[in-house]
Amino acid sequence: LDTRLDISGSQDELKDLALTVNNMFDRIQDSYEKQKQFVSDASHELRTPIAVIQGYANLLSRWGKNDKDVLEESILAIKDESENMKDLVEKLLFLARADKHTQKIDKKEFDLSILIESICKETKLIDSNHTISSNTEENLVLFADPKLIKQALRILVDNSIKYTPETGYINISAFSEQNEIIIRVSDTGMGISAKDIPHIFDRFYRVDESRSKQDEKGGTGLGLSIAKWIVDTHKGTISVESSLGEGSTFTVKLPFTSSMI
Ligand code: ADP
Repeated sequence: LDTRLDISGSQDELKDLALTVNNMFDRIQDSYEKQKQFVSDASHELRTPIAVIQGYANLLSRWGKNDKDVLEESILAIKDESENMKDLVEKLLFLARADKHTQKIDKKEFDLSILIESICKETKLIDSNHTISSNTEENLVLFADPKLIKQALRILVDNSIKYTPETGYINISAFSEQNEIIIRVSDTGMGISAKDIPHIFDRFYRVDESRSKQDEKGGTGLGLSIAKWIVDTHKGTISVESSLGEGSTFTVKLPFTSSMI
């Protein structure tokens, strides 16, 4: 990968060719570096839950037989951490498939307003603390992969729940505008500072890790990068407007493509 062509003294056409090839080398090098970083970050993230599970397993084998409290605490912690690890591994596998271009994309026509209603219903079932509402235009027929779109919206809604105090509000809205469908997920949560906004869609990026961990909101820092990949794959855009302490609004814009085109 360190092979670069020497272009000094070459003729114009050859120089152009060499420049193009060198450009290609740079891009390959860049993606190789990113891949190396991804593997190293992923291994690092996996080490924490493994260490916690090992710690509790040791505690169990030492004291578990005689101490009922240790037994219960350890089993609970091991269950929790294995759940976190499963979630992390699933997200890593998704991104690995995305990078290898092997993630299945199964586009069909479906009504986005119905999908949003079902997300809203499911969210209310598992979270009765926040006020969750939706206002969507009816018959928003989209040609896209419904499972992937649902996954992306779930990530946004789950984040709104994680980063909004229990008395807060979460709203999902969707409407059409010219050739686009615009989906907004808003919350009245802690918000994101301007310096963090450019990075939140990066893999493994988490704002103020200590604050999140303290509040037991430990995530993976992968959710938004997955949501962005899904939206990009559908030739859409994802953006956020936020102000600290007031809340955030994530906006997804998807082109209105039809199966006929
Ligand atoms: P995580 O697993 O940490 O939630 P994400 O990639 O989904 O990872 O989000 C990256 C970071 O962006 C989060 O750690 C959080 O700090 C910030 N964030 C995402 N959504 C919101 C939101 N609705 N309100 C406040 N901060 C958010």
